[in-house]
Amino acid sequence: MIHLSRQQDEMVYDAWYMTHEMLVNKMTPKTSTHRFSTLNRAQYIEQLSNTTFDLLIIGGGITGAGIALDAATRGLKVALVEKKDFAWGTSSRSTKLIHGGLRYLKNLEFKLVHDVGTERAVVHENARHTVIPEKMLLPIIEKGSLSKSMTAWALWVYDRLAGVPAAERKRMLSVKDTIAAEPLIRQDVLKGGGLYFEYRSDDARLTIEVLKSAVEAGAVCLNYAMVSGLQYDAAGTINAAVVDDLLTNTKIEVKAKKVVNAAGPWVDTLRQLDTDGVKGKRLQLSKGVHIVVSRSRLPLHQSVYFDVDGDSRMIFAIPRADVTYLGTTDTLYDDSIDQPEALQADIDYILKAANYMFPTADLKSEDVISTWSGLRPLIYQEGRSVSELSRKDEIFHAPSGLISMAGGKLTGYRKMAEKVVNLVCKELKIKAKSKTKKFRVSGADFESDKAFDQFINLRAGQCKQLQASGKQITALAYRYGANIDLIIEKAFELYPQYQDKTLLLHAAELSYAVEYESVATLCDYLIRRSGRLYFERPAVKEVYPFIAAEMGKLLGWSEAQLAENLAEFEAEFDLVMSWAK
Ligand code: FAD
Repeated sequence: MIHLSRQQDEMVYDAWYMTHEMLVNKMTPKTSTHRFSTLNRAQYIEQLSNTTFDLLIIGGGITGAGIALDAATRGLKVALVEKKDFAWGTSSRSTKLIHGGLRYLKNLEFKLVHDVGTERAVVHENARHTVIPEKMLLPIIEKGSLSKSMTAWALWVYDRLAGVPAAERKRMLSVKDTIAAEPLIRQDVLKGGGLYFEYRSDDARLTIEVLKSAVEAGAVCLNYAMVSGLQYDAAGTINAAVVDDLLTNTKIEVKAKKVVNAAGPWVDTLRQLDTDGVKGKRLQLSKGVHIVVSRSRLPLHQSVYFDVDGDSRMIFAIPRADVTYLGTTDTLYDDSIDQPEALQADIDYILKAANYMFPTADLKSEDVISTWSGLRPLIYQEGRSVSELSRKDEIFHAPSGLISMAGGKLTGYRKMAEKVVNLVCKELKIKAKSKTKKFRVSGADFESDKAFDQFINLRAGQCKQLQASGKQITALAYRYGANIDLIIEKAFELYPQYQDKTLLLHAAELSYAVEYESVATLCDYLIRRSGRLYFERPAVKEVYPFIAAEMGKLLGWSEAQLAENLAEFEAEFDLVMSWAK
């Protein structure tokens, strides 16, 4: 490690400002400088208590975040409350793909494939830094679910339904070309392959970027704020919710003309609080588990979507930085909604499928370095297995006025939001159209993928002075987009204070998360804002005590609060591997 003298430190700092100033007018995309911080919590609570909102949204996953953005940008007075952290539910535990759902063609759900397929490109342009084009390989194998001609047909239909531009349409591959694309694929049963485009994302990051944009547009959003009751006017129409502030153990009343229940797997739990209860349609939850292995144990060249041997399902294997993740399972779930866990049977299922498709990898339980488990909030349909249940979204509108949004996909969040807010506006007699189709969320101020790549290269060059690698800067840019400028600026500011320069970016990134992304706990930061527990679990073990101590300073934690945060994170650290005991 290189140690610089204080004078050299100051030179580095000055150099940054000079380069930065030179670039400001030339190529600096817009950063979002609106503070969204737990340090302002008292102010948010006051606003929530003293305003009558047009719309109160319950649930801070992607569905709630999307609704908040759509409504706030139309000019509505919006509040959103989330009982844990933003994206704590299913929206941090998906396969993290913005995809058209090729497999829904099997269930002949053409409209769903068309809707989510066409929406992919929109979501990509809305959030270019966190929705990245990804080539997907579909190997065709003997006794697989799709023959060569069926695959060609399915991908052809998929491209047409999803409105894919000519240059990105599917390509059918010979056996030789399929092996060249992915040499680890099983060869003895291989009959060819198909190559098509999807987008990979980070669900929790997408959720927070959408929320930050909603806040910038005027929405008041609060995490650790749980709705524990609903209130009604004399006619029996909902006009307020009782919200428990879980950080101070106090209660407030939030008044609103309309209330939307966007509680994902908890939609029916919320409906039970309402006078109308759960009538008519209801949810059916399905659990999906993912496993993470080191990239060196499954060094895929690219993402693969493949048949599970002996099952009619397909799963994904997706390389991401230094790991490859695989999933998912799809099993009926009626246990604790708050804590779905991976079981040994889930891990075995995924490992068996992976070892069939990538036999030379010979993956074992010991290779699994992290996992996550999420619940799909699907809509129950009599006589259908979970895999056959439709992923389409639906609105349940109760006579009390409670509007619940259930089902759906991460991919379709913007359209779902548009639909709900259209209904809210109609009922409030507000004439305002959705503005989100061309809206760039926080951090996504790039004209094109090329402009984003140029931005990363430029910043990587500048950050050599910080002793930061191109890989680190790329990872940060995928997380925060144009907003990394605030992180880089902070890192240069902190430069003289840190002898150990490897901690600089950690400190600067954390400071950004505290000031602009409303992190309240160590878990919020290490799991949902930075994804480190899932994707960097071995490395995070080394650094989390430092991060906790820094966070404690920024948020003014007492010794007891620091200990509580450490204990909570250590429990989560163990939980993702609890099946291994
Ligand atoms: P959630 O994210 O669960 O948000 C609901 C929120 O409501 C929670 O944070 C919860 O804490 C909060 N809440 C509950 N009760 C209260 C209360 N009383 N007061 C306040 N807040 C409350 N979709 C895709 O497009 N692509 C994929 O690759 C994909 N993969 C998936 C893989 C798996 C394994 C799963 C399970 C789903 C996948 N999906 C995918 C679907 C997608 O993840 C979900 O449709 C989406 O995340 C649901 O978001 P949500 O906001 O409705 O629910």
